[in-house]
Amino acid sequence: MEQRVNIRSMPQEDHLLSGHGACAGCGVAIAVKNLMRVLGRNTTVYVPASCLLIFGGGMYPHSAFDVPFLYSAFENTGAVISGIKAGYRRQGKDVTVVGIAGDGGTFDIGLQALSGAAERNEDVIYVCVDNEAYMNTGTQRSGSTPFGAWTTTTPVGSRVKGKRSFKKDLMAVVASQDIAYAATLSIAHMNDFVQKVERAKARKGFRFLHIMAPCPSGWKADPSLTYDLARLAVETGMWSLYEVEEGEAHVTYRPKEMLPVGEYLKLQGRFKHMDREDVEALQAWLCRKWRMRYAPSQPPLDRTDDLACDGDGCEGA
Ligand code: SF4
Repeated sequence: MEQRVNIRSMPQEDHLLSGHGACAGCGVAIAVKNLMRVLGRNTTVYVPASCLLIFGGGMYPHSAFDVPFLYSAFENTGAVISGIKAGYRRQGKDVTVVGIAGDGGTFDIGLQALSGAAERNEDVIYVCVDNEAYMNTGTQRSGSTPFGAWTTTTPVGSRVKGKRSFKKDLMAVVASQDIAYAATLSIAHMNDFVQKVERAKARKGFRFLHIMAPCPSGWKADPSLTYDLARLAVETGMWSLYEVEEGEAHVTYRPKEMLPVGEYLKLQGRFKHMDREDVEALQAWLCRKWRMRYAPSQPPLDRTDDLACDGDGCEGA
């Protein structure tokens, strides 16, 4: 039987060292710390403009990474990690090359370089640490920002009440390119997290890891609730855990029941202005997502019936 790593058996040596400058409760820091433990010392890291660049490595001459670390511009993670890998290949060195970008640098600004690297099947790992806005520059909306959320560019006033469009399904975009491995991860499901990192590390070709990373500052949440927010995101359908290998999607964790999205929203100031109509619109969108994601692994629902959706959850979910 395959022996799979878990949080007890995983490597304990840190390569994102303590003393970095992330905010208390930062989900990005938790994610990258554990990502780097599994990837190990024989890794080269590239980070574009993001919080991680500032708190992790970009304040020359200081760096919290104890492995080779590079950065250049915002939009080019897919291209730069392709070049780094080509350089190592030329030197005859087998090094794990990882690019770690935020949602702004992935969903929006870096999407073309990401797609190009995926299409060429570059032998690299691309990680998106998704905190659902441009947090490093003061919380501007990105393609990842959820419906209804306040940001500085989706303000709340008498005419506009936060973001009016829904979160882009980036995993679907990337996985559609038939890459070697793609997976979604949560810091609240750490065994699942480290197993997916290990699986990505073991494969060749283009691999994509999408990690939800709560941001207490931008989400206007208590820093002590980072884990609870990550867990509730999965239980309410705001995030789902699955992987795509050779074109086949596998759910790796299925919640027993769908919690109402309000349980998640009420812990975050960025959603506090949402009225019932907006909460119901978000809940209905989640019900459709939930049904598409989980229907194959549960007793079949009658696909001709609409799920009854309101702000209290989904009937039939
Ligand atoms: S602003 Fe958010 S993502 Fe950036 S360091 Fe602080 S908690 Fe982390």
